[in-house]
Amino acid sequence: MPSYSELDIAPIINANATLTRLGGSLMPPEVVEAMVEAAKVFVDLPELQRRVGNRIALLTQNEACYVSSGAAGGIVVAIAACITGTDMAAIHQLPDLTGLKDEVVVHKSHRNGYDHAVRQVGVKLVEIGHADGAFDWQLEAAINANTAAVIWFQGAMGGPGDLPLEQVIDIAHARGVPVLVDAAAQLPPLENLWKFTQMGADAAIFSGGKDLRGPQSSGLVLGQQWLIDACALNGSPNHSIGRPMKVGKEEMLGLLAAIERYLALDHEARFSQMEEVVAGWCNELNQLAGIRAHRSFPSEAAQPMPRAQIHIDAAVGHSRDEIIQSLLDGSPSVAVAPGPDDSLYLNPTTLEEGEEEIVLARLLEEIKG
Ligand SMILES: *Cc1c(COP(=O)(O)O)cnc(C)c1O
Repeated sequence: MPSYSELDIAPIINANATLTRLGGSLMPPEVVEAMVEAAKVFVDLPELQRRVGNRIALLTQNEACYVSSGAAGGIVVAIAACITGTDMAAIHQLPDLTGLKDEVVVHKSHRNGYDHAVRQVGVKLVEIGHADGAFDWQLEAAINANTAAVIWFQGAMGGPGDLPLEQVIDIAHARGVPVLVDAAAQLPPLENLWKFTQMGADAAIFSGGKDLRGPQSSGLVLGQQWLIDACALNGSPNHSIGRPMKVGKEEMLGLLAAIERYLALDHEARFSQMEEVVAGWCNELNQLAGIRAHRSFPSEAAQPMPRAQIHIDAAVGHSRDEIIQSLLDGSPSVAVAPGPDDSLYLNPTTLEEGEEEIVLARLLEEIKG
């Protein structure tokens, strides 16, 4: 059997975040088992997509659900859905937008790398506001007959002056324009699975492979039935803009298993365990000269999860960047995130049991070394 070691790929202990470039997250046994079982049998794939979607919709208190190839793939099919609805001619015409709605409105303060998934459909992003937010009249003025959707990026990228999402939904809906929420990394809290759609968003889009710990190449579009039907028509196996973002039967059952697991998790116990790990790290590290450690909250994606922020004084003799690199280059390899100024972050959320001690030992080694 091929293996990472045979390919000379060293395992990494991930104390950074659910980053795609590090493999995203680790699938728990029940997710792996669901994928293994799914892999053994031929099925009617569109029918499976509908059944799995219905089950996930019920579990997450949504009207409907489409399983996508990831949150970014979910954005592509959801934007396409807003442009075409269930009009087969329009679906086949994409990405040629001649005669179709070709604008999507976004807060300027929300612009980020993932908006490429919106632009991938060929639409023009129409920015409203300034670096820190926007006014209601700016959204009103930006919406016109060519507007396919308003996209809202939930998380840490917004500004203090952003319009409240409720108001964005009100203004857009008054003009017959759907609102999509990119909530890719917005778990926990669990309630976010229904919060944005209950607020009135037409769809909320999540990664299956971040805190849900489903398959890496899976995602969720949760929302209105009309939009989910249009996502399915714009997705694989139909010849459509979403055909290259294929979702396999293994991903569908794996993601369903991950959601069932996530709903049954004791999230409170998990939060207190993370607090304990962060407090333990800070206690140990604060014993060292030149090191200042404290709890940082919320996470990099504004999730309600703590991290330890460690400041490395020049007196330590190794810079923050040198320490991050040697953690990664050493054995075992440990990935951590840079923070502002002279700091780095240790994140407990992506660690397996016991790894918090290895992370601490490796950091102590690099600080003292
Ligand atoms: C991670 C992320 C995505 C992409 O999610 P994938 O599931 O990896 O496709 C999109 N938007 C935001 C805000 C994210 O954090």
